[in-house]
Amino acid sequence: MDLRDKVVIITGASSGIGAEIARTLAAEGAAVVLAARSMSKLERVAAELAATGAATMALPTDVTREADCQALVSAVVDAFGRLDVLVNNAGYAPPASLPDTTEAIWDATIDSCLKGVFLMTRAVVPHMLQNGGGTVVNISSVAGKAGFENRTAYCAAKWGVHGFTEALRAELGRQNIRAHLICPAAVATPWWDTANNPQPLDVLDKMIKPEEVAEAVCWVLTQPDRLQIDEVVLKLHRSPWAG
Ligand code: NDP
Repeated sequence: MDLRDKVVIITGASSGIGAEIARTLAAEGAAVVLAARSMSKLERVAAELAATGAATMALPTDVTREADCQALVSAVVDAFGRLDVLVNNAGYAPPASLPDTTEAIWDATIDSCLKGVFLMTRAVVPHMLQNGGGTVVNISSVAGKAGFENRTAYCAAKWGVHGFTEALRAELGRQNIRAHLICPAAVATPWWDTANNPQPLDVLDKMIKPEEVAEAVCWVLTQPDRLQIDEVVLKLHRSPWAG
């Protein structure tokens, strides 16, 4: 796909990986629609992109709410008349041992990481089908392929994203709806800076940069259609100590 003038929605675009995806795709000429809950953070990214001449739009959206997802997609179609790519990136997941995983932690994790993917994808698909097709990129994790300590809710959500993506391909692939999974290991973003989610010091020097995840997203989007790229796994950087 040539990204020039393509319309891309990126959820969780105010921070970390989502903001870098927005910068990278805007630099390729895409019109980027930025979505997250906090408008003040979104506006900073939107202003930065607009200053480069990129076509951009920021809309406050909570991906766990159906009405927000529908309103976002309607606003994009009204403004641009089309919709080519959805990047489902928004997510929130505090680490917790199983006994400490309250129902509230479980629900918040599953809602933002998995239900949000469902709600956003269901909202965009009718418009993509009207256009003859479209692409969904789901930012999953290595936690969607393996189990990790203190991450039962997060792993369940991300494994759910993998099942959802496979089923989406099976159901709508023949109607030209493409779906890719991006599965990074630890990425150096504000995600790790919160008090309840300390930086993983043992992998600090090997962490992936958010720009590298954005490059992977750009790469899958720009490959020829005949290549069926189901997933891209980004492992920790090798260090002289890791061998
Ligand atoms: P950040 O905390 O830096 O950014 C998270 C973004 O998601 C923010 O823009 C936040 O904005 C938004 N967000 C959170 N909840 C919602 C919601 N309910 N509705 C809309 N937007 C929401 O995290 P990262 O950039 O690190 O993570 C982004 C994605 O990458 C997540 O899906 C995560 O699982 C995945 N990932 C991260 C890795 C890492 O090590 N950092 C590794 C592998 C995958 P706001 O709070 O204003 O809504």
